[in-house]
Amino acid sequence: MSDRVIGIDLGTTNSCVAIVENGTPVVIPNKGGYKTTPSMVAIMESGKRLCGHIAKRQAITNAEHTVYAAKRLIGRKWGSPAVRQTMEQASYKIIEGPHDDVRIELRSHSYSIPEISAYILQEMKSIAEEYLGGTVDKAVVTVPAYFNDGQRQATKDAGRIAGLDVIRIINEPTAAALAYGFGKQLERKIAVFDLGGGTFDISILELGNGVFEVISTAGDTFLGGEDFDRRLIDWLVFGFQKEHQIDLRKDKMALQRLKDVAEKAKCELSTSREADINLPFIISKGSEALHLQRTVTREKLEELTSDLVDRTISICRNTLIEADIEKSAIEDVILVGGMTRMPKIQEVVAAFFGVEPCKGVHPDEVVALGAAIQGSALIERESDVLLLDVTPHSLGIMIQGGYFHSLIPQNTTVPTQTSHVYTTVKDNQTSVKILVLQGESERAEDNELLGEFILSGLRRAAKGAVDIEVTFEISADGIVSVSAKDLENGQKQAITVTATSGLTEEEIRQMVQESRDYLVDQKANEAFEKQKQAAEKLIDEMQTLFPRVETAIAGADFGQDAIKKARSLMERAQKAIAMHDVPTLGDATESLGRTLNMFRGVIAKTKA
Ligand code: AMP
Repeated sequence: MSDRVIGIDLGTTNSCVAIVENGTPVVIPNKGGYKTTPSMVAIMESGKRLCGHIAKRQAITNAEHTVYAAKRLIGRKWGSPAVRQTMEQASYKIIEGPHDDVRIELRSHSYSIPEISAYILQEMKSIAEEYLGGTVDKAVVTVPAYFNDGQRQATKDAGRIAGLDVIRIINEPTAAALAYGFGKQLERKIAVFDLGGGTFDISILELGNGVFEVISTAGDTFLGGEDFDRRLIDWLVFGFQKEHQIDLRKDKMALQRLKDVAEKAKCELSTSREADINLPFIISKGSEALHLQRTVTREKLEELTSDLVDRTISICRNTLIEADIEKSAIEDVILVGGMTRMPKIQEVVAAFFGVEPCKGVHPDEVVALGAAIQGSALIERESDVLLLDVTPHSLGIMIQGGYFHSLIPQNTTVPTQTSHVYTTVKDNQTSVKILVLQGESERAEDNELLGEFILSGLRRAAKGAVDIEVTFEISADGIVSVSAKDLENGQKQAITVTATSGLTEEEIRQMVQESRDYLVDQKANEAFEKQKQAAEKLIDEMQTLFPRVETAIAGADFGQDAIKKARSLMERAQKAIAMHDVPTLGDATESLGRTLNMFRGVIAKTKA
């Protein structure tokens, strides 16, 4: 056993491994001398497994048995949108597993997603072992900040399968900040803009005296380089179809070749103004062999992808608003992920933050370096690096009325633990079902279900008379455990939330429906106070918004009714506050929230 710790950036497209050697973090090159390794796994006809560059090289001729972008599937449930989307695009076969999970079938053998990711981790482990000339069994592995609990768990499982003790999971942008600030004694607020192959993350951090504190983090797990590639592919396919009436997407081999050239052209356009796309013998029409030949300009790529670029900026804007930070307070912006090489991205990021992004860090290597720094800090007793990360989602449970009651708000520093006392909603109710959810909606069914369990054997009593304490705990890896305890008899139930995530909305709705008989509720006063606060906030906001809405719809008939309705909703809410009428207040608050959103939309449209 060695106590060396490697840092692994397990990327959607490429992975990278690093270590701290004599106090300096270094990236470990693979046998071919490359510092990053494609996150690809293939199974040959002979049954031999290939990983990394050699898997990538044979992908065109073995498309059905070559897995790429497995990270898009990790920790997801069968039927979830991410899985459906990946299935539409993947050249390999994705099948349903026995526990509603997802598996990949390669040469009649089915593999779980953590297994596939484990092969990549194993490859990174062996790259490190070869370089270091000895075994390595500990690692810090990075994940997108926006990964939910199930995805983190599954990544940890992948590590275990690969024979690695994953001593910590950290968020990619946080790792990037660690590498950026390492040894510099900086005191400043920074933003990490991370656009990789499959995901986008933005984090705001405060650095000072070796403490790296994440203030806010947000992102989109459906936004990355592959979406840019797809725009180019669609453009090529559409052009070809117009000319030859053939849909190239129907041919797996042609599609794989298109993917390759589209990605290559996209990368080339980061340094050149034009890229030639040349695919001889792409398909045949009768006895005629057809070729695909086009030139794509940087402007064309920018035009095809402008909405994707805009989406990244609007997420940045919202994050700053949520964290209550002025743009001008950000002194440095670090770019992470291969996609940030695109000049348009650099340009819009610089324009938005008003600072030139920092050039000193390598976008493909910085995350692995940060993971290595965190790894060495964890094993060194006297490390001068302290990392305070946050949870990217609010966590809570469903309560009476189908509402979501948050116990740990979004952007709380982890590790953390919190408890709250709930009560029963029916007379003689002997069990409660705890539905553990994450998300930002007040409605339970709009959030993501992480897990559920039942606490039974409660004392028979009138509704509201039994006290049930629910405790949430998030580890430094971001993994969630929940327990519920009957405060009277000490009866306890607990779960470590595992990969039940990725359920479809319909399934969640159904589970929420089925739980009606086991509901818990907040204690009477709290429920009222919470509703009251929410309603008053909305009323305030509505009142400040009225003049702007009136200006926005001046002269039009259609908005007048909405304003009238909003005024009557406010009155209803105020009356319900006076009467302590929680259900009516809940209804009015919900309708007010919807109306307010609509007004915001009207104002935004008028501005545009
Ligand atoms: P990552 O997940 O950080 O490895 O990022 C991979 C993504 O970055 C892929 O979509 C690549 O196509 C993209 N990428 C890599 N190099 C470039 C480049 N020079 N210009 C534009 N995109 C790039």
